Amino acid sequence: MHQLREPYLLTPGPLTTSLATKSAMLRDWGSWDSDFNQLTAAICRRLLTVAHAEASHVCVPLQGSGTYAVEAALATLLPRDGKALVLMNGAYGQRMARILEYLGRNFMPLDMGDYLPPLPDQVEAMLDADPGITHVAVVHCETSSGILNPLEAIAEITQRQGRRLLVDAMSAFGALPIDARELPFDGLVASANKCFEGVPGFGFALLRRDALEQCQGNSHSLSLDLYDQWTAMERSGQWRFTPPTHVVAAFASALEQHEAEGGVAGRLARYARNKEVLVEGMRAMGFHTLLADRWLSPIIVTFHAPGHLHFDFNLFYRLIKQRGFIIYPGKLTEVDSFRIGCIGQLFEEQMRGVLTAIRAVLDEMGIPDGSPR
Ligand SMILES: *Cc1c(COP(=O)(O)O)cnc(C)c1O
Repeated sequence: MHQLREPYLLTPGPLTTSLATKSAMLRDWGSWDSDFNQLTAAICRRLLTVAHAEASHVCVPLQGSGTYAVEAALATLLPRDGKALVLMNGAYGQRMARILEYLGRNFMPLDMGDYLPPLPDQVEAMLDADPGITHVAVVHCETSSGILNPLEAIAEITQRQGRRLLVDAMSAFGALPIDARELPFDGLVASANKCFEGVPGFGFALLRRDALEQCQGNSHSLSLDLYDQWTAMERSGQWRFTPPTHVVAAFASALEQHEAEGGVAGRLARYARNKEVLVEGMRAMGFHTLLADRWLSPIIVTFHAPGHLHFDFNLFYRLIKQRGFIIYPGKLTEVDSFRIGCIGQLFEEQMRGVLTAIRAVLDEMGIPDGSPR
């Protein structure tokens, strides 16, 4: 089969980016030059505005993938004698716990398994029971299943209990509304290559200024110290170490496009439509979503694998790829599943396109419908 273009990425990032974003990488920048420093400053200002956090927080970018920024935020915000309650319902919550193990910081997990949300009452009971817990760490949209966790309720309880909140909003920020004036958090982490539709290469943290001011000396690591990155940037306008200049330039363009699309509301509307078309079309072919409708996010959707004995994920994947779409394997420990992302430069047309491809591939594999075992 001939391919007219590179395949669309129906994945949670890196994802399909626009031509404008890719084109923004065709210029070389001096990392110490004031033009580049202004670009960084403008990005940070814009990210704070998107979260309505200009008055309360600062934005600190960090080289690396999203996990580097999560690790840096945990290391910087959590005092060495602090203790975190880590809410887990998938790979990214588990990763935060793993980071804390590496860092040798005290933590307590609340593990909900693969696809249940941490319930606000459970969180409250754990905080009641352990006054030593200083921080709560939560994933906004747990990308392993696509579940949208009840962030607002958890933030409210955390504040009422006098603890501090750190949010891994990697796969949500930019498409799901965050309002720092109403949602109390000390740290919120995301990266360039998710809902803002940039290319991979850096992450960033929105950090409550008065909390960050207390964080000198917390980090075990120089390169992951967000306090040091912040103070150095305040002083010089520069990143401490070589920044991913082309990625930053692409991100500046991606942010302009985000704003032109109507900011968070505009992006959410497009992704929500993508999800609607996808879920409806998949269900019409007999596929089942892992999650009930109320927990589905407009970011990525997990489907049970078809139960038919001809089904083989690797073949299914390859045949769909031949038709121009890259889907994503499942990341669940218990059930056989695969995922399809709704984010990136994807529109209703591409969602209908992948549905058509899946129908054709099922036919080719001799599978009448997508119903699970
Ligand atoms: C993508 C993602 C990350 C970061 O993953 P990297 O591979 O390090 O970029 C962290 N948390 C969540 C919820 C994510 O979706």
